[in-house]
Amino acid sequence: MPEGHSVHRIAGQFRRAFVGQTAQLSSPQGRFGDAALLSGARILDAYAVGKHLFMPFDNGATLHVHLGMYGAWDFAGSVVLDDTAASARGRMGQTNQRGTVVGAHEDSLASIGAPRRTRLRMGEDTRSSEDVSGDIDTSPTFPPEPIGQVRCRILTSNAVADLRGPTTCEVLDDAGVARVRANLGPDPLVDTDGGERFARNLAKTRVAIGQALMDQKVVAGIGNVYRAEILFRARINPYRAANDLDATMVGALWADWVALLRIGVDTGQMLTMDGLLGDDYARALANRADRHWVYHRAGLPCRVCGTPIVMDVVATRKMYFCPTCQGVA
Ligand SMILES: [Zn+2]
Repeated sequence: MPEGHSVHRIAGQFRRAFVGQTAQLSSPQGRFGDAALLSGARILDAYAVGKHLFMPFDNGATLHVHLGMYGAWDFAGSVVLDDTAASARGRMGQTNQRGTVVGAHEDSLASIGAPRRTRLRMGEDTRSSEDVSGDIDTSPTFPPEPIGQVRCRILTSNAVADLRGPTTCEVLDDAGVARVRANLGPDPLVDTDGGERFARNLAKTRVAIGQALMDQKVVAGIGNVYRAEILFRARINPYRAANDLDATMVGALWADWVALLRIGVDTGQMLTMDGLLGDDYARALANRADRHWVYHRAGLPCRVCGTPIVMDVVATRKMYFCPTCQGVA
């Protein structure tokens, strides 16, 4: 499942290529009839809160999308590939992107007069995204035909976004947006009072911190990778009760999530190991196995102490930790 950084990057893609434009919305697959409520309106903004994407239109309605496990956006037309997408060439782990790369940086693209045709995909499930190769679409026709089960197509005069397989795709009024957001914990990139809210939310719950971090009402945007890595970095046992952590620990957890999320948004990858230089940094960018302390390392030696990393299934999700470095529950 895409974690918060992916959805912020998707929102950024919409801000660069779609916001300010009048859009035609449709549901090629037919399951999103409410697309007509937005069609012909102008897109005012695109922003993420945790794993939720919101796009307000100038007719007072807002598109709300949650990708869930299998959802993905495909962008085509004169969309801008940033240099992280260009360098990855379609192997970006959790956030997969692919495209016809015509320039390594946004600036070089912006200086090109004629729109360049490109396609990229963002936010699909890891397993399938890492299987793709060799099917970069270089078709010059615009807009491209929808491929597969497209729930929602957003088309402007020069860019198109196709949404496939989301858990949620709906039109909300302002009260509906407020309802969704009231059920979401703080997101560091949205909420200036996020640290205090995070502390209050943890103080209210006795569930294990490893579970609390996955609860989107406690903190929005953390998924399985960030959960495991943040707790290892803080050397906190995932079974420790959330309300047992002192203010210093809670403050440090929040500060670390703020920092990791920024790195994720900037690089498109959940880089959770510090101090990587040169070849080590390049390896971490290229290969998920070289990028994490404990996530997906069950049975492998802890990078710090050598103890085999433990994987427990908690609330149907795999939870990784080092029983030595994170020893005290
Ligand atoms: Zn260890």
